[in-house]
Amino acid sequence: MKTSVELQEAEAMFMEYASLHKMRMSSERRDILRFIFEQKRPVAPAEAEEFAAREHISRATVYNTLKLLVRANVLRRVQQDGNARIVQYEPVGWRHNRMEMRCMRCGRVVKIQDAAISDLIAAKRYSNFNYSHYTLCVYGECKLCRKSATKEKNRKR
Ligand SMILES: [Zn+2]
Repeated sequence: MKTSVELQEAEAMFMEYASLHKMRMSSERRDILRFIFEQKRPVAPAEAEEFAAREHISRATVYNTLKLLVRANVLRRVQQDGNARIVQYEPVGWRHNRMEMRCMRCGRVVKIQDAAISDLIAAKRYSNFNYSHYTLCVYGECKLCRKSATKEKNRKR
């Protein structure tokens, strides 16, 4: 089977997490991870369970693995249509929500981590529009450019 770069990265992340927590990346865990990535859409726990049953993987291993993959930041839990009762799993970063600052002088891009904003956007509902992901860009002047601009000003005086 040809593995995608995304899947390779996910496996590497999971392996790192597993070794950090003195666990092993069993073939069962890897199979579950691959199954979810192959679907190319959010996967319900019941689907993972069905797959596992075909592969003779126990139900406990499925739920344990899903939990671990979320902790390892490989998968995230998503609520279908904002319904807390319908939980599905999808690869983290799959839809590429992005928050960044961009300097208008030098073009430097800095990632923003702001849980308050991302929670706000995640909770947002738009009539007649079902959004899948977003990009938030804050424009301005970076620290380095501001410093050199200040120097420039002082030199002129
Ligand atoms: Zn700059």
